[in-house]
Amino acid sequence: MTAEFDYDLFVIGAGSGGVRAARMAASKGKKVAVAEERYLGGTCVNVGCVPKKLFVYASQFPESFHASKGYGWSSAEAPTLDWAVLRDNKTAEIERLNGIYNSMINNSGADLFGGRAIVTGPHQVEVNGKGYSAKVILIATGGWPYIPEFPGSDLAISSNEMFFLDELPKTAVVVGGGYIAVEFAGILNGLGVETHLIYRGPNLLKSFDREMSDKVTDGMVAKGVHMHLSTQINEIVKTDAGISVVLDNGSSLEAGLALYATGRQANTAGLGLEHTNTVLRPNGSIVVDDNFATGDPSIYALGDVIDRVQLTPVAIQEAMVLVDHLYGDGSARIDYGDIPTAVFCQPELGTVGLGEEQARTEYSDIDVYVSDFKPMLQTLGGGNDRITMKLVVDRASDLVVGCHMVGEHAAEIIQGMGIALKAGATKAHFDATVGIHPSAAEEFVTMREKTR
Ligand code: NDP
Repeated sequence: MTAEFDYDLFVIGAGSGGVRAARMAASKGKKVAVAEERYLGGTCVNVGCVPKKLFVYASQFPESFHASKGYGWSSAEAPTLDWAVLRDNKTAEIERLNGIYNSMINNSGADLFGGRAIVTGPHQVEVNGKGYSAKVILIATGGWPYIPEFPGSDLAISSNEMFFLDELPKTAVVVGGGYIAVEFAGILNGLGVETHLIYRGPNLLKSFDREMSDKVTDGMVAKGVHMHLSTQINEIVKTDAGISVVLDNGSSLEAGLALYATGRQANTAGLGLEHTNTVLRPNGSIVVDDNFATGDPSIYALGDVIDRVQLTPVAIQEAMVLVDHLYGDGSARIDYGDIPTAVFCQPELGTVGLGEEQARTEYSDIDVYVSDFKPMLQTLGGGNDRITMKLVVDRASDLVVGCHMVGEHAAEIIQGMGIALKAGATKAHFDATVGIHPSAAEEFVTMREKTR
């Protein structure tokens, strides 16, 4: 370390990206500090990916109970849900993970400060009333749910609160058409809550392949979600029984809660960035260059706070690239292309590469292969689920440029497809791959007939 500074690296925010950067820098012998005001592990561990997935599992049991009958199982009583047990078991698991994060940071040799850090200069940070100097400051403060202001918006809650509800409502209104809205609509519906999904646009998940997002919409409706597309909310009013959500078509919905999943904004307010040359976009996110440097050469930022791709594994990769830039040979790069992603809605959506519409704008001729079938589980189990798989192929090069799936295990299957696309797999490679039988995934290597 340069003696003139207390730390080589001062990380603000102990989420996925911040912790990875801190640990890697410390492993390279750097003197590192991490400040966290809220919870170790950030959004993903505490109010995001991890507890959400636990809730998704919980919400899928009723379908399994139903399917089990066709496989010969019976039970004297219908299973019932104890929400408090689910919520509290989830919280205990998250606290276990908080402990692991605590050990990981401490074992790395980094100093951990519990408190809000404020940047007081290009090399200065203040936390718990004490100032520290650092050669490099890394801002990894993530994002926070955004709820638009309108009459009664203070009655709406965000995904943060969903993880700690005192009780499950009988009826819920979920607003938004992105990841969080569709995921929570599926969770609530699966847990037995009458669920209304309200989205202002005509198509959910609008940045995804349209055919696949339509399959998600149809599948959600088939599972019982009440869908209100092209619909806005005028106001929310408090009632004796809960809330009344007034729609722009003149009708209203009586509900126990209104979850607004209307995006997330960068956590930069009150960070003291006015004391630096850091440049913010109008939405508060931090502008960085290819090496994650802000307008101030000693200040870097990554993860949700830079608003490039708000995904945990992306923040982690960005952290590894940054540490290589600062303390390695600087050769590491992040490729934002072909990032596999999954939406844990029900039915699940997994995707990597280009959607059909996007591929048509980027390539002159594409071939599209689509397969739609009933999952084998349902032969005896009943149920109406379908699986849809889709390959988008550039005809000139035979490269598979998009791979999409809606249905059970989509996330697990698309992860492997992500490797194939990263490796430059052609349709011929897919065709030459032997299937695993019987599986749903084998369909990806047996699609011979072009659909379009
Ligand atoms: P998204 O950006 O995905 O979706 C926000 C939704 O809210 C859009 O449908 C948008 O509509 C709508 N919206 C925005 N403003 C308003 C408004 N004023 N009134 C009504 N509707 C509005 O954000 P999320 O909150 O769902 O998730 C944030 C990010 O977190 C995601 O983008 C994703 O990167 C990440 N995430 C990832 C998950 C995963 O990997 N499985 C899970 C959950 C989150 P419109 O489209 O019309 O603008």
